[in-house]
Amino acid sequence: MLRHESGEGAGGGATTRRPCGICALIERCRTGNFADFVAELPHSFVILGDAQFYRGYCVVLAKRHADEIHLMPTEEARALFDETIAVGRAIALATWPLKLNYECLGNLEPHVHWHVFPRFEADAMRTAPVWTRPEAERKVSLEDSDRRALIRTLADELRRQIPVARVAAER
Ligand SMILES: [Zn+2]
Repeated sequence: MLRHESGEGAGGGATTRRPCGICALIERCRTGNFADFVAELPHSFVILGDAQFYRGYCVVLAKRHADEIHLMPTEEARALFDETIAVGRAIALATWPLKLNYECLGNLEPHVHWHVFPRFEADAMRTAPVWTRPEAERKVSLEDSDRRALIRTLADELRRQIPVARVAAER
């Protein structure tokens, strides 16, 4: 069964709650069963997000389950944010966006994670939050070779910034 890795401690929660989808996703990343895995950093797993209308969009998943940032040990929350900034820099170098958006919401999955979205000039809704675009328009996949090349570019840049990063094997 899935479990919250931190147990009842850092915001983990009661044993009666449903399994955490992000903990499950992390397990797939750990075991090499997630195609959109980008990198494992000291405090996070980085994946390519499912809304590639925003080409380069990544999600930074805290390695250890916590429901809220303020329930994480402060140093861990800061380290996670440093890694999120590194992901933003990697996206910026890979896609040259007009602007980046960083969001930490967790309304659907209360496991701390940062969304990092590049925003582009050509987006007619670029001054609005990404979530106002209809889901069917947002949730598009890249053509496979493009997706793999983008993951490789992001992973290489993350490894340049954070040498201990573990990235997906060359495919
Ligand atoms: Zn979790």
